[in-house]
Amino acid sequence: MPFLRQSTDLLPVRLQKDVSPGAWAYSHGLTDAQQKDWEKLLGDKGRIPFVLYPNLCAKCGTLWPEMFLVPDAEWKHYIEPQMQREMLCKACYEQVKAWIDGEGLGLTRRSKQTKRPASRAGG
Ligand SMILES: [Zn+2]
Repeated sequence: MPFLRQSTDLLPVRLQKDVSPGAWAYSHGLTDAQQKDWEKLLGDKGRIPFVLYPNLCAKCGTLWPEMFLVPDAEWKHYIEPQMQREMLCKACYEQVKAWIDGEGLGLTRRSKQTKRPASRAGG
């Protein structure tokens, strides 16, 4: 069953009430009369059903995978373009990296390429 969510963003405007820090309404909340006015405004406007959709790994389907950071350049290198907006769990990301690196297509550091061509050429 969906939860009904109500935004309080418009509360100060609709009730013409100052709810900023330091204002009486900020520290004490709305009076019973103001609360009823607010609920009537919400009822008149209608509420939006809110359904919580879980995050899941696009590869293995794990629910709510722990989030981790990857530099943009690395993500773009290892994750194909149509999947770059998806979420992966850490294990699946490491698997994808290992597959790509295993094919010899992994990231190479430009510094290594530019600093060590002589040693490669010389064997
Ligand atoms: Zn996964």
